Amino acid sequence: MSQLVDRFGRRVEYLRLSVTDRCDFRCVYCMSEDPCFLPREQVLSLEELAQIARAFTELGVSKIRLTGGEPLVRSDCVELVSMISSLPGLKELSMTTNGSRLSKLARPLKQAGLDRLNISLDTLNPERFSALTRNGKLERVVAGIDAAIAAGFQRIKLNAVVLKGQNDDEVLDLVEFSRSRELNIAFIEEMPLGEIDERKQSRHLSSDEVRDIIQRRFPLTLSHTRTAGPARYYDMADSQSHIGFISPHSHNFCHECNRVRVTVEGRLLLCLGNEHSVDLKAILREYPGDIDRLKQAIVEAIELKPQQHHFSHDGSQILRFMNVTGG
Ligand code: SAM
Ligand code: SF4
Repeated sequence: MSQLVDRFGRRVEYLRLSVTDRCDFRCVYCMSEDPCFLPREQVLSLEELAQIARAFTELGVSKIRLTGGEPLVRSDCVELVSMISSLPGLKELSMTTNGSRLSKLARPLKQAGLDRLNISLDTLNPERFSALTRNGKLERVVAGIDAAIAAGFQRIKLNAVVLKGQNDDEVLDLVEFSRSRELNIAFIEEMPLGEIDERKQSRHLSSDEVRDIIQRRFPLTLSHTRTAGPARYYDMADSQSHIGFISPHSHNFCHECNRVRVTVEGRLLLCLGNEHSVDLKAILREYPGDIDRLKQAIVEAIELKPQQHHFSHDGSQILRFMNVTGG
């Protein structure tokens, strides 16, 4: 059981580890068109990432998700998966990816010990896909999803960010796509990261509105599957697929939050919606190989985990882009 318990009695069992801020896409809600990426020396090395994962698992964290940026643009990502997947105490190693490189990498990732995949897919229309991602090819992602299924990944989950006026007319098509491949799907409300302008505010669509669209065609019942995350899951009577809704605005999930994040620069973030953080990279570089010192810093940091996040649409947002914090 995790030794990481915060001031509010929440046990931290889940780490999201960002492995790169780089990406082959430029999704409109995630990155600017011309992002400025970090110099390589500021990004954690393979060994540093593995050391952080080891420290957390030794403290009892049992689930790790690799994210980014796009984890699969890192050339050593499969190697990282093999280093982390063999850590004692780890029950689940997962990855969130845009799917563009899965055709080639799904099988090696499975062999390296990756347990689960979340794959982002916001639209099934090729032109829209390329507009939303500012250059992505839909057919590559669909081929990647199929490669992941063929490689034997179970319980694959699609992530779809729904934006009013941009892809909300495709909600049912995305549900049909998931049902046809027996995948789960989570619809995500856009989070106010980075700069908020009026355009962003007007394209906000709540999870309740998305659920209403689906309910009219596929009656939903609340699923018994519970996660400690911000998603609520629903079942359909005639399908194995679960449908989730991730809604940081409409539903406050902070009281059961069991997760922390480590950014690509090695900052331990205690909450996605707050600025509290501890610089683990500084410790790793000042005391290389000193796992006890790293663990001590993590234990002390958990004290800083705030009670709740501070997202809003009123302009008091946290100025940080998702690819840096890890989604
Ligand atoms: N590149 C990978 C991908 O796209 O799946 C992993 C990183 S991405 C930052 C992780 C998830 O965050 C994706 O599902 C993406 O759709 C979501 N995301 C990015 N920016 C977001 C935002 N502003 N609001 C809500 N979700 C966002
Ligand atoms: Fe890249 Fe993922 Fe951000 Fe899209 S959401 S730009 S794929 S990191």
